[in-house]
Amino acid sequence: MIPHDSIVALATPSGAGAIAVIRISGEDAITIGNTVFRSIKNKELTTQKTHTLHLGHIIDDTKTLDEVLVSIFKGPNSYTGENTIEISCHGSTYIQQQIIQLLLRKGCRMADPGEFTLRAFLNGKLDLSQAEAVADLISSDNEASHQIAMQQMRGGFSNEIAKLREELLNFASLIELELDFAEEDVEFADRTQFHELLNRIEFVLKRLIDSFAVGNVIKNGIPVAIVGEPNVGKSTLLNALLNEERAIVSEIAGTTRDTIEDELVIGGIGFRFIDTAGIRETEDVVESIGIRKTFEKIEQAQVVLYLFESLKFKVQSSEYIIEIEKIKNQFPLKPLVVVINKIDLLSENEILNIRKQLETLSIKLETISAKENIGVENLKNQLLSFVNTGALRNNETIVTNTRHYDSLLKALDEIQKVKFGLETNLSSDLMALDIKEALYHFGMITGQVTNDELLGNIFANFCIGK
Ligand code: GDP
Ligand code: ZN
Repeated sequence: MIPHDSIVALATPSGAGAIAVIRISGEDAITIGNTVFRSIKNKELTTQKTHTLHLGHIIDDTKTLDEVLVSIFKGPNSYTGENTIEISCHGSTYIQQQIIQLLLRKGCRMADPGEFTLRAFLNGKLDLSQAEAVADLISSDNEASHQIAMQQMRGGFSNEIAKLREELLNFASLIELELDFAEEDVEFADRTQFHELLNRIEFVLKRLIDSFAVGNVIKNGIPVAIVGEPNVGKSTLLNALLNEERAIVSEIAGTTRDTIEDELVIGGIGFRFIDTAGIRETEDVVESIGIRKTFEKIEQAQVVLYLFESLKFKVQSSEYIIEIEKIKNQFPLKPLVVVINKIDLLSENEILNIRKQLETLSIKLETISAKENIGVENLKNQLLSFVNTGALRNNETIVTNTRHYDSLLKALDEIQKVKFGLETNLSSDLMALDIKEALYHFGMITGQVTNDELLGNIFANFCIGK
């Protein structure tokens, strides 16, 4: 059911800006706009062509509220597929509110979060995964996640899924047909072709499911555990990486809470730094809980930065080398970078000496001064080298949405059941049931199958005005 009332909302961020855009969508959007707008050329909005721009004033009875530009988009050639106007007004919150309130009095309704995009979906302008990509696009804060969202909005993998679903549907109807002729024992659906299709679908589903790991990391940031005793300079390093003061730096040991997460964008890739305590052997109960937590954090991380303070390392090198080996043994596959910080406190020779001692461990080593910004750039590059964005560069489709991932897993499960049924000569009626299930999960991704609850959930996550 497609609603016909006209909705209004601020399309630009709330607060004051140079300009603000107020958007109205609905059958009567242009008519309502016309009742509050007086063009400087005395033209009626209702007689104007689509995709035109008009200068004039918003008038509340006799009072002029603002000088504005109004754009007209006639349905179906608009974002929502409905008649739409956008009023670009001056950005004061007072003006924004006055105009919106005026429009509400003239018959508009305040839009719910995501309602513009919901209407675009209901009017067939976007499929569901494209609509969800709009939300991702708005919230994307780094180049990589932006790229994925754009790709998905343009169709991304939902085109591929929709096409496979259609082919599957084809076979489903042939098999349904066989059921109608059950006594005659005919086969309309070519079993070899069907098997080939199932293999193709399975391959695509598996690829998409695998891409989720990459996609999720890119969307949420690559988790980096930053391990080190209090005061080795973890927060200072984060600040240096960030180039601004955001993490808390403190002179007192132990003031960093046990885990703090900080997000940084380095070279267009989002990183999520998880600040954790060191792992030295200890009798202290509280501290040993900390160590357990540290191990958990390392487990979850994609890269581990192990920080030491240069002066202490110089004195306690053998002790620390045991620690490093312990981590290496515990997490043999985890990329580990040992970072010796505060090298501004050592001589060239002392630094060389430390490097020599660590050479035998065959680990990645960076010597830096977070405070004096020495070696930080190298460390950045080191971090970037761990990022597998090959998939992005090859423009391969990446799944970032948990709901899609879930549906893909379920679809794969059903497809494998169908395949097994085919290989074991399962009766057509039972196979038809599994096919139906698979079709359902495919449809859940593209929105060909929906329910109100699902739509409500997705669009409630949008901001108002989108
Ligand atoms: P955290 O507890 O590991 O997060 O350590 P902080 O970042 O809070 O730093 C502890 C202290 O070490 C602060 O006084 C910093 O200014 C100092 N510090 C951090 N990095 C360096 C460095 O490269 N050289 C020197 N000399 N001092 C540093
Ligand atoms: Zn800290």
